[in-house]
Amino acid sequence: MKAITVEPKKPGSARYEDVPEPDVQEGAVLVEAVAVGVCGTDVEIVEGKYGWAPQGETRLVLGHESLGRVIDPGPNSSLKKGDLVVGIVRRPDPVPCPNCAVGEWDMCRNGQYTERGIKKLHGFMSERWRIEPEYAIKIDPSLGLLGVLLEPATVITKALEHVAVIGRRSFWEPRTVLVTGAGPIGLLAALAAKLHGLDVHVLDRVESGAKPDLVRALGATYHAGSVRELGLEPDAIIECTGVGQVISESIQAIGSCGIVCLTGVGHGGVIPPAACADIAASAVLKNNVIVGSVNANKRHWYKAGNILARADRNWLSRLITRRERPENFKQALERKPDDIKVVIQFAEI
Ligand SMILES: [Zn+2]
Repeated sequence: MKAITVEPKKPGSARYEDVPEPDVQEGAVLVEAVAVGVCGTDVEIVEGKYGWAPQGETRLVLGHESLGRVIDPGPNSSLKKGDLVVGIVRRPDPVPCPNCAVGEWDMCRNGQYTERGIKKLHGFMSERWRIEPEYAIKIDPSLGLLGVLLEPATVITKALEHVAVIGRRSFWEPRTVLVTGAGPIGLLAALAAKLHGLDVHVLDRVESGAKPDLVRALGATYHAGSVRELGLEPDAIIECTGVGQVISESIQAIGSCGIVCLTGVGHGGVIPPAACADIAASAVLKNNVIVGSVNANKRHWYKAGNILARADRNWLSRLITRRERPENFKQALERKPDDIKVVIQFAEI
């Protein structure tokens, strides 16, 4: 079968090539790939900045935002042939640490977890893939291709759950939430916050186009510019850019007792020592919490499936701005100005 593979840490090594059929050791459920979403992590792996091949192999099958159709459910699963499924990305570490031991692998403490398409496990950018039944999430069939948005939705489901848990340390009745960044994660955060009945504001750099339109279509407010100029004091900020300036302004703009949840992974951005102390003082005097959030466990996958199932299909479909064929994966990895979510489509749905 064909797959998109890469030699991790070797820039320019990605290719669309013949690989062996997936080994039954990878799971009893055999799945036909329908589509795989592309994100910044995939770009970093292809650029040689990140990624690990499975033990004893030199190449890694790329892709962690999956959608597939069950070909063979195997002997012990409740799945049926034809079901649409998405594969959970992370597997608990083998030790396991206390968090992995209780199924909270998203909070792994020793970093020895593995991840499909990223860290020591083959990903989903192959014509067929296998998965353990307990790591296959069946999606609402009416979602169709939109099921490929489940993985990014899990990231935001976990982030919002953690904000809600932290909020309950005192009286917590949030009204206003600011989302920084109107990429797929930011837009899904706005959707989920809107479903919670919050007054949602989204900030990004662009002044026109699909992003502002999508925010307004949710009944949320779109802002172009800086967090500092907004004049908002949100109860929660979901930071999805990873940009130093946006992060420091978010920490200073958050309302009293508010929570800043960081989900973006960026690089650089030096905060001078004096400004760092000012930021800390503002957090102390307003009882703020700054929390980082990554990945998701099975509970978040389940809850994210419910969020997508409740969302307007037309709105969700506008998040997928480009579909590429697997042989054109290089185009899929290139960022174009109007892109929100690009998917590589392996089979018709
Ligand atoms: Zn662990």
